[in-house]
Amino acid sequence: MRTLVADHPLIAHKLTALRDQRTDSPTFRRLADELVTLLAYEATRDVRITEVDVVTPVAHARGVRLARPRPLVVPVLRAGLGMLDGMCRLLPTAEVGFLGLVRDEETLVASTYASRLPDVLDGRQVYVLDPMLATGGTLAAVISLLINRGAAQVTAICLLAAPEGVAHLEKTFADCAVPVSVVTAGVDERLNESGYIVPGLGDAGDRLYGTAGGST
Ligand code: URA
Repeated sequence: MRTLVADHPLIAHKLTALRDQRTDSPTFRRLADELVTLLAYEATRDVRITEVDVVTPVAHARGVRLARPRPLVVPVLRAGLGMLDGMCRLLPTAEVGFLGLVRDEETLVASTYASRLPDVLDGRQVYVLDPMLATGGTLAAVISLLINRGAAQVTAICLLAAPEGVAHLEKTFADCAVPVSVVTAGVDERLNESGYIVPGLGDAGDRLYGTAGGST
């Protein structure tokens, strides 16, 4: 598995503003949106393209366009929705699927409560949107589901990650034949006993949407 921590002053600037507890929800949403577009630029570096001919006002030229099948973007409910517009700005022709998972607090096993995905993902490049890679349990379940449906490549875009979550994904997908990547604006110090990333930015879902609905 490949982990890319995007290193760019604009990304660092926006992440710092996101972390600030004084940042209100409308500003947080705008910053998250802008940050995703910058991360998406890195995450789509190997998006598949095909060569095409184009006629300019002056002459013929060779160019490229996105290959078929179209990339699939999958926000993980609920907080991943706050990343969708920023992603689609860069990939407007992408198809969009949705996944919602809930974790049983006793068994800690994640199960799907909402799914809108193409049945078959054979050959598809999939971009998963989940702002916080904390324990990695949910993201591992999402990536496994996509791979089991035939995804050819899975890239998770996360605003922030914890080392524990990165390690969990690295272990889970160590021998996986399908390329799996994580692109994030930062890997923080650790998780606290409540499962929050430290120093982190708090509950991403709450900060995006207000407190209704509990966890992300
Ligand atoms: N989910 C969040 O929203 N924040 C964290 O710090 C960890 C998980």
